[in-house]
Amino acid sequence: METRRLFYEDSHLTEFTATVTACDAAETGWAVQLDATAFYPEGGGQACDLGTIGAAKVLDVQEKEGKILHFCDQQLEIGQTVTGRIDWDRRFDLMQQHSGEHIVSGIICSRYGFHNVGFHVGSEMMEIDFDGPVPQEELALIEQLANEAVWKNLPIRCWYPSEAELPTVPYRSKKRLEYPVRIVQVPGFDSCACCGVHVKNTGEIGLIKIVSCVKFHSGVRIELTCGRRALKLTQGIFEQNRLVSQAFSAKMMETGTAAQKMNQQLSAEKLRANTLQTQLLRQTARGYENAGNVVHFEENLDSAQLRELTDAIARVCGGRAAVFSGSGESWSICMLHPGGDLSGIISALKEAFPTRGGGKPGTFQGTIQATRQQIEERFAE
Ligand SMILES: [Zn+2]
Repeated sequence: METRRLFYEDSHLTEFTATVTACDAAETGWAVQLDATAFYPEGGGQACDLGTIGAAKVLDVQEKEGKILHFCDQQLEIGQTVTGRIDWDRRFDLMQQHSGEHIVSGIICSRYGFHNVGFHVGSEMMEIDFDGPVPQEELALIEQLANEAVWKNLPIRCWYPSEAELPTVPYRSKKRLEYPVRIVQVPGFDSCACCGVHVKNTGEIGLIKIVSCVKFHSGVRIELTCGRRALKLTQGIFEQNRLVSQAFSAKMMETGTAAQKMNQQLSAEKLRANTLQTQLLRQTARGYENAGNVVHFEENLDSAQLRELTDAIARVCGGRAAVFSGSGESWSICMLHPGGDLSGIISALKEAFPTRGGGKPGTFQGTIQATRQQIEERFAE
């Protein structure tokens, strides 16, 4: 006997009674069949419902060869009358996403002739792939039109047209379909072949928020979110913007400009700091004029500055320049001996301490683990 699909009769049915018609051991748990169910099985890009049947937890619902299988964590007695309860928060969220997707896909199809060729509902966002370049500059307009469909609180109609009616119903579909076809219509916005479950009226979607649009194959991938998720996202962004606004002492609607200005200031400050640092390094190097072999320790140099200082010292000292930057027992090292040979001192260092690095003859860059005193003693030998 075929299971009566209560989810198609009433997409807001959260509780129902039914009779268990089969219960077979499955790979995980039990595959339960009922004479009627409000549990939507995964299909058409929409995830399945979860919930409970009697005392059993429903872990997955799949349709196989026309049979709706409720995979449960407990065995149920065949012939038993049971109460099914749908995880409504999950179902309503999925219906909000799916119904919002119809509106956006319908608008893009009618305005630009581009088709929804891929659809995925993630844990946070929904992705729709279109087969043409939806213009970025019109995303705000598309979003506005989609939300106008929500404000109109339009009834969403789902039905199977008769064989005679079907050819007269225009609808979007990825492929040519044979009778029977289930049609979902949002009046004035979308008409589509779809086996999913939807909200009854567009007002239930609450909010449709387009998040991003990037090039994907020959078209675009649009990320969007609807309903409770859209509210949660905007609340999160609003809270972040409030923090930025406080940090920059900028008005909520001027945080972007304030951040750009801060970035420009930061670049100017970095340039100034680099110029001062270079001057300082050169001054340090001048202190080693004709000093012969030099061992120098300096705090907080990045690798470019370390190399720059070593270069500057090597140019004036007339011997080997070894510069260390770091603290405690962990140092970066740069050694230069123009025209000279560093192999002796490098072997001595590697023998005495954990030392890593390499370079060309006369050059060495790497790291060393030893105290400043240990390093100084080794160089003094
Ligand atoms: Zn649908």
